[in-house]
Amino acid sequence: MSPYQATAAFAQAQDHADPLRHFRDRFHLPTAPNGQPVTYLCGNSLGLQPKTARAAVLQELDDWAALGVEGHFTARQPWVNYHQALAAPTARLVGALPHEVVVMNSLTVNLHLLMATFYRPTARRCKILMEGGAFPSDQYAVESQLKWHGHDPATALVEVWPRPGETTLRTEDIVQAIAQTGDELALVLFGGVNYYTGQFYDLPALTQAAHAAGAVAGFDLAHTVGNLPLQLHQWGVDFAVWCGYKYLNSGPGGAAGAFVHERYAHRPDLPRLAGWWGHRAEVRFKMEKGFDPMPGAEGWQLSNAPILIMAAHQASLAIFDEATMPALRAKSVQLTGWLEFLLHTFNAEQSRYRIEVITPAQPAARGCQLSLRVPGQGRAVFEHLSQAHLIGDWREPDVIRLSPVPLYNTFTDVWRVYEILKQLPG
Ligand SMILES: *Cc1c(COP(=O)(O)O)cnc(C)c1O
Repeated sequence: MSPYQATAAFAQAQDHADPLRHFRDRFHLPTAPNGQPVTYLCGNSLGLQPKTARAAVLQELDDWAALGVEGHFTARQPWVNYHQALAAPTARLVGALPHEVVVMNSLTVNLHLLMATFYRPTARRCKILMEGGAFPSDQYAVESQLKWHGHDPATALVEVWPRPGETTLRTEDIVQAIAQTGDELALVLFGGVNYYTGQFYDLPALTQAAHAAGAVAGFDLAHTVGNLPLQLHQWGVDFAVWCGYKYLNSGPGGAAGAFVHERYAHRPDLPRLAGWWGHRAEVRFKMEKGFDPMPGAEGWQLSNAPILIMAAHQASLAIFDEATMPALRAKSVQLTGWLEFLLHTFNAEQSRYRIEVITPAQPAARGCQLSLRVPGQGRAVFEHLSQAHLIGDWREPDVIRLSPVPLYNTFTDVWRVYEILKQLPG
């Protein structure tokens, strides 16, 4: 028996009983040209603006206006160590110790910075293993790292693809590919949730397999942080990176994050690309020669923090602390299950459109997002949804991504998807 019923009344009852329902009011919901709010199911691409973000940014603009350079030390939240206030809430999101995380730069920059440290190929152990069809920026970053070290991606890049006829990866196949690459494998660099399929990989299993092969385990958590609970420290992940503007709602181009496991916290000997903000804070302003890194993830910082975007990020992190990931995840499982149920209901009620969900059906193997294929009619269905002011996104070659986000989406938002689909020409 399904726990769901395909009625508007069911959606309303779920919304009414939702302990997180008040969080929707904390966000600005975009409006359509007709003045109606849009149905926003695109938090996987750009999270909505927390209403508190504006005041947080204005506070820094005001302090800058009032204090000039003195703001580094006398702003209400002094800029010189601004990033430190973001470490604890970030650590709670990813399951880390506060000194294992740092908010800095943007995502692809952090990926390169951490590969500079953790991809240290030798003549034999030189390969990087990643998921086939990884986000393009990650593919470009990895290919360019291989070439930078004088290796040919044609032989040194190992991509793991789904079996013929399947759309997502089996953990056993990834683990086997890792074991087979064996002592030629330097780095496993996987997504957490694949941007295209929405599959959430078994990160503890991949970490374990990488370590058993003598390789490093690094993850790009762009689609994972703020979407799924994580335990990076406990899982023994070596490093991870993510952006702040997707599920973390920190604004376009917002501040990104990085995790470096505690086992590397006191390793000043590790090769890295250094900058003054990674230098020991107590002596940073002595302006002396000789880089001496801060312990922990902070030691990978290059530059002083971009305060305006950090302010917006901090405002958003405070909301996650209030809502908490376990509660968000519990709602998320219900909300995404509801979307899946309604898509199956729609399929059962007509025969013209066949919506395939390529995201795994097991809740443990996915987050908010469902990726849909409609053979031969994907583009038309996507246009139809857009016409009805439903914002999801289209990813080439043939996928519609819809992501009900538990912080601000409702069961009624998801019901809208079904209502709009029902209006497709029969
Ligand atoms: C969104 C995303 C990016 C984007 O990179 P930026 O450096 O933030 O522009 C990169 N990789 C993955 C896996 C993503 O999901």
